[in-house]
Amino acid sequence: MPQPLIVANWKMHKTHLEALAWLQQFREVCQPSSARIVVAPPFTALESLATTLREQPLPFPLYLAAQNLHPEPNGAFTGEVSAPMLKALGVSYVILGHSERRQLFFESHTSIRLKMISALRHQLRPILCIGESAAIKAQGKTLDFLKGQLDGSLEGIEGLAKEDFSRLVIAYEPIWAIGSGIAAAPEAIEATHQSLRGYLIDRFGPSGSHIPLLYGGSLKAANAASILGQPSVNGALVGGASLDAGEFASIVAACG
Ligand code: PEP
Repeated sequence: MPQPLIVANWKMHKTHLEALAWLQQFREVCQPSSARIVVAPPFTALESLATTLREQPLPFPLYLAAQNLHPEPNGAFTGEVSAPMLKALGVSYVILGHSERRQLFFESHTSIRLKMISALRHQLRPILCIGESAAIKAQGKTLDFLKGQLDGSLEGIEGLAKEDFSRLVIAYEPIWAIGSGIAAAPEAIEATHQSLRGYLIDRFGPSGSHIPLLYGGSLKAANAASILGQPSVNGALVGGASLDAGEFASIVAACG
């Protein structure tokens, strides 16, 4: 069994001071567990969290993630942040292709793919998000849609060095479950993850069996154990429920 990966996606919430207060509370309540814990705050809180974690480490590792990056290492791209800049701050992961970025910021397969390649080349671990809308689910086209998203965002990835490729993480996040309070049913998540695993093995051979497959969408302390207990679920991407340090600590604890 791979180590479960639990990722907090704070989206556009918390100032750097609020982030530090969260960390202090998390330090008080979180018990060591089998999970690898990752927190993705806004860009503005990465530096303070990284410094505090370096100066006053937790009794277990806590990794940082960014919520986006620009594929170029530097240049005339006002408002953007690059992979080497994140790496220099001590960031380990980056969330890419989140449905909010696809829908609200019109991110295409091509731009997501370029970001993925940049992240992998700069030793970051991309968490590639995929997920179907309620309309696609109602048409019974979920798996075709998810495979189309993977085809589009992973094109050419297998050409990268094996050690780069091995850092890839995928998060299945049904759009209708995100922020709705209604998570997908554990058995349905398991079935989808099994299909995605089959796709990854068909496409990448044995390497495809090692890519962590996370679930995201209204996961909270109350449903964490039943979702994380599914054999094909390797962890979770947690939005709203991660904003409260106690709730997030309970989700981490559900990994045992
Ligand atoms: C997300 O947006 O990545 C997410 C999982 O959100 P929530 O947990 O709030 O549904």
